[in-house]
Amino acid sequence: MRQSVEIKKILAEGKIGDTLSVNGWVRTKRASKNVAFINLNDGSTLHNIQVVVDVNKFDREILDQITTGAAIAAEGELVESKGAGQNVELVAGKIHLYGAADPAKYPLQPKKHSLEFLREIAHLRFRTNTFGAITRLRHAMIFAVHKFFNDRGFYNIHTPIITGSDAEGAGEMFRVSILDPKNPPLTEDGKVNFREDFFGKETNLTVSGQLEAELAALAMTKVYTFGPTFRAENSNTKRHLAEFWMIEPEVAFFDIDNNMDLAEEMLKYLVHYALEHCRDDLDFLNKRLQDEEKNLKKEERQMELIEKLNFVLENKFERITYTTAIEVLKNSKSNKKGKFHYPVKEWGMDLQSEHERYLVEKHYKKPVIITDYPRDIKAFYMKQNDDGKTVRGMDVLFPQIGEIIGGSQREEEYDRLYARIQEMGIDEKTLWWFLDTRRFGSVPHSGFGLGFERLMLFVTGMGNIRDVIPFPRTPQNAEF
Ligand code: ATP
Ligand code: MN
Repeated sequence: MRQSVEIKKILAEGKIGDTLSVNGWVRTKRASKNVAFINLNDGSTLHNIQVVVDVNKFDREILDQITTGAAIAAEGELVESKGAGQNVELVAGKIHLYGAADPAKYPLQPKKHSLEFLREIAHLRFRTNTFGAITRLRHAMIFAVHKFFNDRGFYNIHTPIITGSDAEGAGEMFRVSILDPKNPPLTEDGKVNFREDFFGKETNLTVSGQLEAELAALAMTKVYTFGPTFRAENSNTKRHLAEFWMIEPEVAFFDIDNNMDLAEEMLKYLVHYALEHCRDDLDFLNKRLQDEEKNLKKEERQMELIEKLNFVLENKFERITYTTAIEVLKNSKSNKKGKFHYPVKEWGMDLQSEHERYLVEKHYKKPVIITDYPRDIKAFYMKQNDDGKTVRGMDVLFPQIGEIIGGSQREEEYDRLYARIQEMGIDEKTLWWFLDTRRFGSVPHSGFGLGFERLMLFVTGMGNIRDVIPFPRTPQNAEF
């Protein structure tokens, strides 16, 4: 066989009369007495190439094994396609069967499978149209993130995945240890003696790269991390994973307004990139969502996917304070009629995703950025406002998702930061290096964290975060 050509390239550039070879997995096969039509996909595009086979020219036994899921190569000539959807199809002169897929056992049949079932066969779900589209979009978004920052002079920093500081405060952590769980060494007062552990102290998987990114920003000015983060919260929601990827820019000489501008610019850039480069896949996912929702009442339906993406591009994000958000929510019809699961009563409460979505979808009808949160519900490192009550945090809220970004201007004054650490009962000895940056050449600086899978939920229109990462980790689930 010749060197194969990828299907995306053939469908875009292939000319009638070209002789070439193609590799892929069989999606469907239809056979009549003399001719068989094989739809082949290699992951390069949503679309399949049709391979036409004169059944009398080939070994019957081989042809019979070419069923859904089998891997084959076909070589032949491109001819004009009479079927709808593609311009060319391949008339096979040679066929090679790489691997058969016994139809009695292969779990992926050419019919609609539920997303729940596909999660159970995540090792095979890449072979569906939906997960092919999501996989290509995920790659495009990863690439676009790096391009966005590179084009703007940011440096990518790898921050540690194993961390010895337990003070990040962003969530419950997973312990990293080589001690024998059945028989750990103990200290004199009967506690586990982590001095004897691998690192000589207690260590965990990181919940965020921010603290280390700050160290780099205070020399390199513009940096970002894009790494895995881990949270051991037992929250079985459609928006939380135990292992997810986070994009965290950190910029010196940036105040909260610069930070909001960067967040808005980045989100718009990424959405625009998806529309520009992944239109086929987005159109497919748009239709998938329409089909899924066609039995819902009109008011229960979400915005259509493409419409929702344009909604982000076309609207200037509304910027409001937490205090305003509480006022709006408190006086809302939903609140007065008792429609919120968590009623909005007083200043100081944490906002739930139902509140965030109300502000975006019902009230402002555009993405919203909330700033100046009560300091008691936010992390120790956020810059304190002079009112003594609020901090310069910011959350970006999106339709369907709620919080997609959390960030802040950081406290750069040593005395204020130190006081806050004490006040919150954090062991300052684990943070000496973080505090040091406030002693030597400290400057105002800001940053934020974008949960990559939250972005993927938004861009794909999928409803469950388990479907936008290849192999999700959630409570009671670490298969594959
Ligand atoms: P939430 O309130 O939604 O649980 P958070 O406030 O705990 O999120 P941050 O610590 O601010 O989250 O993390 C920054 C970003 O990381 C969030 O805005 C969100 O996009 C994402 N994120 C946080 N937790 C998770 C998770 N468990 N799974 C996936 N993404 C997450
Ligand atoms: Mn947050």
